[in-house]
Amino acid sequence: MVRPRGGATERWSLRLHPEVDKLLDKVAKERGISKNSLVESIILEWAYRNGYNKILHANIRNGRIAVWDFLLDETVHITYVEPEHRLYCENCKTYDCGHIWAIMHDKDLRKKIKKEGWIIAEIS
Ligand SMILES: [Zn+2]
Repeated sequence: MVRPRGGATERWSLRLHPEVDKLLDKVAKERGISKNSLVESIILEWAYRNGYNKILHANIRNGRIAVWDFLLDETVHITYVEPEHRLYCENCKTYDCGHIWAIMHDKDLRKKIKKEGWIIAEIS
């Protein structure tokens, strides 16, 4: 997730316990994204799970799902990874984020995924 792409961003500071900061550093390095992008991904997941964010539009083509993220106001690409039978978010650089959660909890998208012949393990 590289910001800004044209949209405005807000800058603010945050005080964290050192243990939390170290955890964010560790996970950001594992994903290969900045700590800022990781925090944004975490907030997006929270927003999806709590009804503050939604997928406005989605297309499935060539092994990828393109979703329009309401809060980001941009397209996010999700790739179906065949050997693992999992979805990978190109934006959040993970197999487990709010975008994937929202896709798996959308009845119509699940039907479209099934139609593609994709087999995806259940997520929480
Ligand atoms: Zn994502």
